[in-house]
Amino acid sequence: MPHRFRALPKAELHLHLEGAVDRETVLEINPSLSREEVDAAFRYSDFLGFLKSYAWVTRQLLTPGHYAIATRRLLEHLEGEGVTYVELTLSAGVVLWKQQEFPPIYEAVNREAGRSRVQVRWVIDAVRQWGVEAAKPVIRLAAERVGEGVVAIGIGGDEARGPAIDFKDLFREARDAGLRLTAHAGESTGPESVWQALEIGAERIGHGIRSIEDPRLIQELKRRDIPLEICITSNVRTAVVSSLDEHPVRRLHEAGVPLLLNTDDPALFDCTLTGEFALAERQFGFSIPELEVIAANSFRYAFAYPG
Ligand SMILES: [Zn+2]
Repeated sequence: MPHRFRALPKAELHLHLEGAVDRETVLEINPSLSREEVDAAFRYSDFLGFLKSYAWVTRQLLTPGHYAIATRRLLEHLEGEGVTYVELTLSAGVVLWKQQEFPPIYEAVNREAGRSRVQVRWVIDAVRQWGVEAAKPVIRLAAERVGEGVVAIGIGGDEARGPAIDFKDLFREARDAGLRLTAHAGESTGPESVWQALEIGAERIGHGIRSIEDPRLIQELKRRDIPLEICITSNVRTAVVSSLDEHPVRRLHEAGVPLLLNTDDPALFDCTLTGEFALAERQFGFSIPELEVIAANSFRYAFAYPG
């Protein structure tokens, strides 16, 4: 039976391609692995453990063809969820780290995207803890593909070891090249990280949940109309919140910050977008009209929703 939130018109704006490669797709890509090996690689208990699992999955993507399969399976799934538009994050930082050629990989995933009924735009991501020098070619590769499906750049990874402020000049260059800007912040570290993301020009904040600790920051997010890309299950699974009950999504909503609901890395978190809406309703008392506003936000705050 289709999920009751399937019919809700919605987009997804915080979704990593590599984190959406599920166990079946890993086995499809690499049939020499056993189910037990894959299950073990998907197991973790905290944020750094999660980053290791994520890195393991990315290492299975050895060819443009593998990336294309990952894209195809994800878009099939999104279509089943009733998602009509997605801004999908592709970590060029990881591609370069693996010493792979980015252009054929981008060509493969973008070709696959063109075959789907789900409209796809790309966010190209750099890994912040690897520093600014490693991020420079990532921004260049994104800038070269403005108008060819790439709409934005982002930074993700370990906030503590890669403060947003380090990327200020790079973000300015990206903006000048016609790219929109997003940054993970306030996920594994506190409000200061979100302030820094704002200072470097981020137009959406990935997670941003720890903004709740700083009333002045809440006011600033509202004043600038900057939405938080909330990923409830992700935050519980990576243990950046101590329990589901502790998640501040309801308090952020009550405070008037624009919110989005997302899955982040659905294969690693065993979650779905319709499931996140159901969770918001069941666990945090969001009404259907409130959830309709959040779903509408996913188009309103999209960087390039073509309509
Ligand atoms: Zn993320």
